Amino acid sequence: MQNMIKSTIKNINILAATEQFLEQPHKLLIDGKWVDGIEGKTIETRDPATNKVIAQVSIGGKKDIDEAVIAARNALEGPWSKLTNFERAKLLSRIARLVESNTDLLTEIEVLDNGMPTNIARLTIHNIAEMFDYYGAAAQRIEGTTTPPPRHITDHAEALTYTLREPIGVAGLIVPWNVPAFTAVLKLAPALAAGCTVVMKPSEETPLSALLIGQLCLEAGIPAGVVNIVNGYGSEVGAAISHHTDVDTVSFTGSTKIGREVINAATSNLKKVSLELGGKSPVVIMPDADLELATKGIAMATFFLQGQNRKAGTRIFIHDSVHDELIERVKLFTEQLVIGHGINPATTLGPLISEKQCDQVMKYIEAGLNEGATLLAGGKRLEGDGHFVEPTIFIDCTPDMSIVQDEIFGPVMTVQRFSTLDLDEIARLANDTIYGLSGSVWTQNLSTAHSLVARIRAGHVSINCHGAVGTNIPSGGYGQSGWGREFGQEGLDAFLETKAVTAQLGKY
Ligand code: NAD
Repeated sequence: MQNMIKSTIKNINILAATEQFLEQPHKLLIDGKWVDGIEGKTIETRDPATNKVIAQVSIGGKKDIDEAVIAARNALEGPWSKLTNFERAKLLSRIARLVESNTDLLTEIEVLDNGMPTNIARLTIHNIAEMFDYYGAAAQRIEGTTTPPPRHITDHAEALTYTLREPIGVAGLIVPWNVPAFTAVLKLAPALAAGCTVVMKPSEETPLSALLIGQLCLEAGIPAGVVNIVNGYGSEVGAAISHHTDVDTVSFTGSTKIGREVINAATSNLKKVSLELGGKSPVVIMPDADLELATKGIAMATFFLQGQNRKAGTRIFIHDSVHDELIERVKLFTEQLVIGHGINPATTLGPLISEKQCDQVMKYIEAGLNEGATLLAGGKRLEGDGHFVEPTIFIDCTPDMSIVQDEIFGPVMTVQRFSTLDLDEIARLANDTIYGLSGSVWTQNLSTAHSLVARIRAGHVSINCHGAVGTNIPSGGYGQSGWGREFGQEGLDAFLETKAVTAQLGKY
């Protein structure tokens, strides 16, 4: 196997450290030790740009999750709970420094396992270090409140009530493949900051970067059992986490369909659930928009990460008066995008994650043609072993089309034309979706911008840009895009309980 891995990556120029990492055994992390799954099973992980195997990874099952949850529970009740918030913050800061010193390695692993272009992968690794620092600092400010007298309780007694913020307990973290390291840390860093212990399941499509992060957690001195990582299939390992009666909360990012299954499974012990789900975000171009800015803005709203992006703006609404000029500009911009292997620094668009994802995207392109949309650009799958689909633009779309309503999670833009200037009507078009994750409004008029933003039902709406990500920008969904928020203080709150304490002080 090791020789096979060597030969499959030999044509790509990668670091010796990356090669070494890929060749090492990739086991489960349970109770501070790297172990094989109880049933000894493994899966292959592939480079989506070449479809070649890059590593062989141990996977677990229900029994491994049981072991991991026991380790997490013991760690929660052991020395981890005795650390002060400041000590936890110090550990998070140590992990941040280790992430920084391993940036090149993490970047290449992410590119090879997921396919994203190197410059984007590098940015996500930078963000990861920032998240460990941010939530380390936030851990130092976990504070309750006090409610002063008057008398809360009966019989004329004086009392004092204060609140404590406590870790929710054992947290199950279920991660998708589209920005794997980033999404893993978006859950892991606040969970650790809150004082939780975790059992994490990366996606079976991208199992590698989480293992490297687990390695860095151990190096930083995170005690055994606090971070457990079990790779495997969603229907087995993911379901075992969400059904487990000794897991106190599940933080899930993935499709709306699986989100529903997680909710159902969570009824086993009524564990808390936070969900970051699908999206089909609107991008609204008003007649006075800066067209040069909007050109790149629209194209990258859809095509960033090949459309495999949580906040992808794939429903584009362009006012009649600028429609024809703008779509011509977007078409020209799109033709300049460089499709290729993410390791190549010139690449701006990588592959889709898998054959399955390619098939799904191609099915939607066919549906778009059958439903009567006009294909302006792209529409084809590239020949070769990699999972590449051309950036595709459909115009003349209508709200009833499946390409407009369904989350495709691929490089497919749908453009609708509108002629009204009534903001309520425009918002109705933008809100015609079951989702509500993100959106953007493009105009140079301040009052149009803010009035329209107020009418759009989504967790993050931008003006003259789309889908910015920042550690302190709360993000989450309206409608069927999810429950709760990640990032910022709310990302930490998801892993904390509030306990009220009342002390009777005496009678008066
Ligand atoms: P997915 O729902 O298929 O899988 C997500 C994770 O859940 C994976 O780890 C998978 O193994 C696991 N899983 C699968 N079946 C499960 C089950 N029955 N019980 C528990 N876990 C299970 O999603 P995906 O294909 O990995 O990712 C793409 C989807 O994720 C898209 O719909 C996208 O919108 C969504 N996403 C949302 C956000 C967000 O923040 N809102 C971010 C990234 C991706």
